[in-house]
Amino acid sequence: MRRKSQNNDTTGGQRGVLHRIKSYRLIRNLLIGFIVASVINLLFSSLFYTPKMFRLADERRELEMRYEVLQNRIRSSQRKIDEIRHRDNLVYRPLFSSDTLSIEGIYTPYAEQKYAHLQGNDFSPMITSVWKEMDQLARSLYLESKSLDELQILSKDKEKFSTAIPAIWPIDRSLLRNKIGAFGYRMHPKLHRWKFHKGVDMAGRVGDPIFATGDGVVESVILSRARTGYGTQVVINHGFGYKTRYAHLNKSHVQRGDSIKRGQLIADLGNTGISTAPHLHYEVIYRNSPVNPINYFDKNMSAEAYKSLMNQIQEETYEAE
Ligand SMILES: [Zn+2]
Repeated sequence: MRRKSQNNDTTGGQRGVLHRIKSYRLIRNLLIGFIVASVINLLFSSLFYTPKMFRLADERRELEMRYEVLQNRIRSSQRKIDEIRHRDNLVYRPLFSSDTLSIEGIYTPYAEQKYAHLQGNDFSPMITSVWKEMDQLARSLYLESKSLDELQILSKDKEKFSTAIPAIWPIDRSLLRNKIGAFGYRMHPKLHRWKFHKGVDMAGRVGDPIFATGDGVVESVILSRARTGYGTQVVINHGFGYKTRYAHLNKSHVQRGDSIKRGQLIADLGNTGISTAPHLHYEVIYRNSPVNPINYFDKNMSAEAYKSLMNQIQEETYEAE
């Protein structure tokens, strides 16, 4: 009995040890399995994409592609606007003898800080460039819409416009003496420096008739015998942004506020103000800036007539200032 119980004790102890060993092995195997699985996972993920990474990469490619499509569409819209602008400047505006519309700073890109909030990730350069192109497109659209608005107004009043715009000679050409003093920069004969001449000078005799070059309203008449500036002068406002000035006159036949028709006698040629010989100083002013009157002498001038006119025009001056 004692032996048997001893035997029983021994087998009981051995069974406990075996059980523990089994548990240890199981834990060891589990640990090894976990470590191996982790190492394989690590290796795989560094060598190959996981399905999630594949999906993300796909999404990224898709996004980049969409941005590229967007950018191409913006560029093609910009090209279309450029074409419209080209036609506007070379076809529509010349129809109304209207100068190109320019809005100051319209082509200047916005400051970089406007796009600061777009910075900070991989896509920033792409997104910023799309925004910049969009902004440029918006600016061009604004300019073009303004320009077309103007043309719409001009086309409504086309008939009125065609009689208002300066379009004839302010003086009978057969009465002209000597060369015509040119518009633009010229070397001053006495001061020996470049000076901008805002109009053209036409030499004649005191008393030669001066005609209005377009319909309008007399904006101002200044009567002056002083030997300074323009002397006696008349300014006519033709509307549509156009004005004409007739200076160094001997006498005015009109008064401020008078309505004037093209070809109407408005003054007599003179030698008042700073003038070295009897002549008419004639200016065409568009939107408060002087433009070359030569382009407004005769709307239907032939190429030959224009050429011969240009030959008559010299850096002549009849003004001492
Ligand atoms: Zn002049």
